[in-house]
Amino acid sequence: MPGLAPVYLNQTPNETINWQSEAIAEMNYSPADIQVNLAKQTLTIIWGDNHVSRYPLFALRQQCPCVECRGGHQNMGGGINPADLLVPPIGTIGVTNLDMVGNYAVKISWDDGHDMGIYTWKMLRQACPCEVCYKR
Ligand SMILES: [Zn+2]
Ligand SMILES: [Zn+2]
Repeated sequence: MPGLAPVYLNQTPNETINWQSEAIAEMNYSPADIQVNLAKQTLTIIWGDNHVSRYPLFALRQQCPCVECRGGHQNMGGGINPADLLVPPIGTIGVTNLDMVGNYAVKISWDDGHDMGIYTWKMLRQACPCEVCYKR
């Protein structure tokens, strides 16, 4: 079957290229800096590509992606809708700690004692409520 070998050989480099471009896309989901401003009630992420995302703390707490807050495993893995971050806050909340989880996420500890939420960079970037990322 001499005809099959070149097809197989052509597929392998394509797969490698796809994987590499995905890896580069993932790099855009890495933050260069994270700042929490309790007075302004914002968490600001400056991304590797210099995009700046500003998240309201109270809404970010309400959209906590953990099992407990999402009401079961079947509801996990979903992202955060930017629209839900633009809901006017009905209170304030503080952040007591930010723990980096591997190179893909941050675990946010809130001052209400909850610290189960692991927010992936991808989830946060896709939830960016700025006017460029989220068309109202
Ligand atoms: Zn939670
Ligand atoms: Zn944005």
